[in-house]
Amino acid sequence: MTAPQLIYLDNNATSQPLPPVVDAVRDALQSGYANPSSVHQFGQSARHAVECARGQIAALVGADPRDVVFTSGGTESINLAIRGLLAYRGEKCHVVTSTVEHSAVTRLVQQLRREGHTVDEVGVDCNGRLDLDQLAERVTNQTALVSLMWANNETGVLFDINQIARIVETRGATLHVDAVQAAGKIPINVADLPIHLLSISAHKFYGPKGTGALYVRKRTRIRPQIIGGRQERDLRGGTENAPAIIGMGVAAELAADALANDTTLRIAALRDRLESGIVTAVPGAVINGAEAPRICNTTNIGFPSLAAEGMLILLSENGVCASSGSACSSGSLEPSHVLAAMNIPDELAHGSIRFSLSKLTTEAEIDRVIELVPQLVKRLSSAGMRA
Ligand code: PLP
Repeated sequence: MTAPQLIYLDNNATSQPLPPVVDAVRDALQSGYANPSSVHQFGQSARHAVECARGQIAALVGADPRDVVFTSGGTESINLAIRGLLAYRGEKCHVVTSTVEHSAVTRLVQQLRREGHTVDEVGVDCNGRLDLDQLAERVTNQTALVSLMWANNETGVLFDINQIARIVETRGATLHVDAVQAAGKIPINVADLPIHLLSISAHKFYGPKGTGALYVRKRTRIRPQIIGGRQERDLRGGTENAPAIIGMGVAAELAADALANDTTLRIAALRDRLESGIVTAVPGAVINGAEAPRICNTTNIGFPSLAAEGMLILLSENGVCASSGSACSSGSLEPSHVLAAMNIPDELAHGSIRFSLSKLTTEAEIDRVIELVPQLVKRLSSAGMRA
C-alpha cells in the first residue's frame, strides 16, 4: 500500500522552510561559517550577513534595525522581554496578561507569581476577543508590564493591538506583544504604535527553527537573561547562530513581499473554503472564534461530542497533519485553556481541531480534506469514539 500524499495543515506548530531560506542557511553553513565577532575579513563578512538579516527582520515589523535583538526563538524572546524588564525594575511588580496566552507566557507568569510578583489576567469573550473594559480596569499607573499576544496560536483570533497599545500608554506601563503567530501574516509597524517589546519566531514564517528576535524600543530598559559574551549590544550573550539568522532574514523578506502582494488573501480564501465545506457537510460543526477578526491561515473547528485525538489519528493515517489544543495530563484529556476561556462547552472543546494553512497549501489539498473529514466523523461516531 502506498502512503497517502502528505497534506500539511499544522503551520502554526511550525512551517516548512522555503527553498530560498534552505539555500541561504546551507550556503552560510558551508561557506560563511566564521564567527561574526572575529576581526578577520572572514568574520567581518559573516557580521555583514548578520546585519543584513537584522535589516530584513526590522523591515518586516517596521523597526529600526538597531532595536532588533536575535534570540533562539519565540520562547526566549518572551522570556527576555518579560524577565528582562522585571529584572531591570529590580522590585516586585504588577503584570497584566490574558487568559489565552501561549504557554511561553502563561507558564512564565505562573513562575513570576511564585517569585512574589502580582499577575492579573484579562478575559476574552466567546469569540476570543479581549475584554478591553477589563483591560482598562486592570492596568493602572502601578502596572509595570502588560504582555498580550497579537494572534492566538489555537484560534487565529487577533487582539486589537492598536486599542490595547493606546490603553496601556495612558497608564504609562510597558507593553510586550507576543507577535509569534502574527509576524508575516498581518502587516506590523512598531513605528506607528506605542509597543515597547515585540517577540517573533522564524519558524512560524517559513524560516529555520530555533531562531527569533525581540524588538526593543529605544529607551526601554531590559536586563540580559543570558550572560556571556557581549553580543547583541550586551542584551544576549552567546555566539550568534549566523546561518539561522541569515535564513530568518530571507524568510522575513519573502514574508514582507507576500504581504505586499496579498498572498494572505489567497490563503484566507482557502481557509474559508475549508470552513464552509466542513460546516456544510458535518452537522453541528462550529468555527471557534468565527465572529472575531482572525489571521488568514487558521481555523479551529469544533465537532460536537467527538474526541479530537481520535480524529487527529485518523487524519494522520490519511496523510493530513492537524492538531488540537487539548493536552493529555495524567491520563485525562484537558480541554484547551484557550477554548475554556472562551466558554466553549466542554463537549465541543474536546472535539476541536486546528487546521493551519500555509502559502504552499493548494486547493486540491483543501478539497481532499473537505471530502475526508465528514467520512472520518461518521467512522468515529459509528465506532462510538466520542468524547
Ligand atoms: N507564542 C506563540 C503565540 C506561539 O504560537 C509560539 C509557538 O507555538 C510561541 C510563542 C513560542 O515560540 P517558539 O516555538 O519559537 O519558542
